[in-house]
Amino acid sequence: MKTSPVGFRQAESSHQRSPPTDSHSTPNSSGRTNMASTVGFIGLGNMGGPMAVNLVKAGHRVLGFDLSDAALSAHVEAGGEKADGISDLAAVSDVIVTMLPAGKHVRQIYQGEGGILENAKAGTLLIDSSTIDVESARVVSAAATGMNMPMVDAPVSGGVGGATAGTLTFMVGGSDEAFAAAGPFLDIMGKTIVHAGGAGNGQAAKICNNMILGISMIGVSEAFVLAEKLGLDAQKLFDISSTASGQCWSLTSYCPVPGPLPSSPANRDYEPGFAAAMMLKDLKLAQEAANTSGAATPLGAEAAALYALFCNTGGNEKDFSGIVNFLRGS
Ligand code: NAD
Repeated sequence: MKTSPVGFRQAESSHQRSPPTDSHSTPNSSGRTNMASTVGFIGLGNMGGPMAVNLVKAGHRVLGFDLSDAALSAHVEAGGEKADGISDLAAVSDVIVTMLPAGKHVRQIYQGEGGILENAKAGTLLIDSSTIDVESARVVSAAATGMNMPMVDAPVSGGVGGATAGTLTFMVGGSDEAFAAAGPFLDIMGKTIVHAGGAGNGQAAKICNNMILGISMIGVSEAFVLAEKLGLDAQKLFDISSTASGQCWSLTSYCPVPGPLPSSPANRDYEPGFAAAMMLKDLKLAQEAANTSGAATPLGAEAAALYALFCNTGGNEKDFSGIVNFLRGS
């Protein structure tokens, strides 16, 4: 494990660990030994399911809860245990991870009747990895901290592939102490762990990054559409711009037209990847945050409007790079 003074951690070894030979301890990527913990995991969906499996593989007892029976069965098949409800799970867990759709679910599950804060022991470490609005993250964190439960907001990037491989990037908000306590668990599920500052700053980093991504994908897509109209071959534009000042991740790692980059979703009929509906969710969160904070983000607003149109005209389930077809009018 490398740790820099600005709180950037990158694991050096594989995260797919073998079950520990000693059932009471698990090795982590820094070579330190953690006691096996009881981890409660709420939200075993596309992302949470494989993240929980990696905690099981690392030797932790993982009590799972989800509204979906199929998700719970998959968790049990992978070696996890099924909790009867949130209150039961919270009462016995040393650490609780949540991976839920939106802020309203997070507020309800932490602060609602029969929720985590009502039932967990003082000292329980709370990790919310859902992508939610900054305000909800800060409100829930303040309530948890007030009850002596250290909490981090730790949204991720890396998609289902990264969740399965244990190579997610975690953007973490919370106190130094909460960040340090969460590290050994985040190391199991991710590869790059960045401390972005106090409570809510993980969510802030996530939505700012994805606002850059949404805007840059539209910019790159518009350039390819213009190139087509001008008779400039897509491969030529790629070769030139990928080594010129137009270079960016949306072009060189996720090219929105088929051909130049075989790994990009454009070569698989825009099968996600990262669905346009998810991009729209994050762009809306960025706009909410811009409105409440007074930041001027005119391109972010335009990107949100364009992704809403793309989603409303059949793009919802497509990869977000499919916006090139919407811009082309095809
Ligand atoms: P998902 O819909 O597959 O999973 C969410 C799970 O939460 C579902 O299984 C659902 O049944 C469960 N759930 C909802 N309400 C619940 C409740 N009250 N109690 C218990 N379980 C409940 O979504 P996902 O793709 O796993 O995404 C989860 C979060 O991660 C979202 O905030 C999303 O924005 C974020 N995210 C997703 C991706 C991705 O590629 N899928 C990438 C980065 C971040």
